[in-house]
Amino acid sequence: MQKQIKQIEYGYWWNCAECGTENAYGLNEQEAEDYISDWESDNAEYVAEGETGEGACDWNYNVIAEENDAHIEEKEKCWKCDAVATAETRTEKAKFLDALIDNIVQK
Ligand SMILES: [Zn+2]
Repeated sequence: MQKQIKQIEYGYWWNCAECGTENAYGLNEQEAEDYISDWESDNAEYVAEGETGEGACDWNYNVIAEENDAHIEEKEKCWKCDAVATAETRTEKAKFLDALIDNIVQK
């Protein structure tokens, strides 16, 4: 099988510090379906209140994961050169949020 960037339905993209290639962090279609059905069976009380597995998946992978640089936390490897994600691969969004928090703390 030819190597290629992961085709994600939910998640975000980061750039490898070694080779500069774009990488995807998140869930592909099948993983997202599994996540959503697992979440809904584990969280019946939330589902009863109108929450959906899609919403949880969206929140966790499109919002929280990027804000926390989950690819660094989980030591994801570049699909192309196998380099492990380092602090240099932080996303602009995570850096921006950190700067914002620092700014608030200093005031
Ligand atoms: Zn790379």
